[in-house]
Amino acid sequence: MITMSRFDPILASKALWQIRIKKRPFVLSHAVNAKCNMRCKFCEYWRKESGKEPTRDEIFRLLDDAKEFGIGVYNAWTTEPLLRKDLPLIMAHAKKLGLITSMVTNGKLLYDRVEELENVDYLSVSVDGTESYKEIRRMDFETLLKGLKKAIEVRKLQKQKNPILMNCVLTGINLDDIETLILLAEKLGVKVSFEPVHEFPGINKEIWEEIGIRDKDKFRNTVDRIIEMKEHGYPIINSKTYLRLVRDEKMDYKCRASGIIINVTHDGTAETCRVHQEPLGNVMKDGFEKVWKDSAQKRKEIVENCEGCLFFGYTENSLMQSFNPEVLMHYEWM
Ligand code: SF4
Repeated sequence: MITMSRFDPILASKALWQIRIKKRPFVLSHAVNAKCNMRCKFCEYWRKESGKEPTRDEIFRLLDDAKEFGIGVYNAWTTEPLLRKDLPLIMAHAKKLGLITSMVTNGKLLYDRVEELENVDYLSVSVDGTESYKEIRRMDFETLLKGLKKAIEVRKLQKQKNPILMNCVLTGINLDDIETLILLAEKLGVKVSFEPVHEFPGINKEIWEEIGIRDKDKFRNTVDRIIEMKEHGYPIINSKTYLRLVRDEKMDYKCRASGIIINVTHDGTAETCRVHQEPLGNVMKDGFEKVWKDSAQKRKEIVENCEGCLFFGYTENSLMQSFNPEVLMHYEWM
């Protein structure tokens, strides 16, 4: 879970023990809440937001059980974690248990709340372009930038070890912004990641016609430019191996994601990954141990029948667990 450039032998051995020997996931990716404050065109989460939020005690119990199960990294995301007032207490609880903490935010509340995120080790902010940002995210880029700049300052004062990550989803409408975004990351002293938009079937066809990647030549040229800028030392966290798969729209890697990351929705439903949302069981009711054991066959079948995806967290971590040397050297995130 950690690259050779920032190799932490203790964490790496814990991850290997859990993933390879115990054959259990090391990362818990948790929908800590059920609501979002944005309406991004390509996202399916806000469209189906519903249901009761888990209480703080339920989340504390979930984290205690996750720790017992061998989870080493807690990632709070989907839909928008900062909508939870008690998020800092949840992150503090995870840290107290010895977990590495990570969070993905859309950035809308970053300006107001970043001081409270001292127990977040890895902070990712979704930044899909500059000029095209508003069209995609339906919020002014300046509002986001104000929060981002404040977050950079605050985290410096907090002496956080890891730089902020701007994560960018490549779509058909932000390809002209990508170079500017990389230059911005360099200027701000943050990292940037890329992944192609995943065309979830729950979103209507007209939206995909508008924002899906249709001009393939332009897309390939853009990804080539990202690779070139990576080679010139710009702060792009993706490996070149992954970026080449993205450029060529190839999914020919062995997916190990379900053995590394467990996805849990706000109501406790465990899922193989973001794409395959068939319930594997409920960890809030039955605990990680039982859900994991009982779902072995189902997980195996889902992965065997999967056509693949190119979410960077899944692909890069799968490549790392396959000991791909270039990825081990150059992928720079969790
Ligand atoms: S390759 Fe398939 S099983 Fe693996 S993470 Fe992607 S969608 Fe899920």
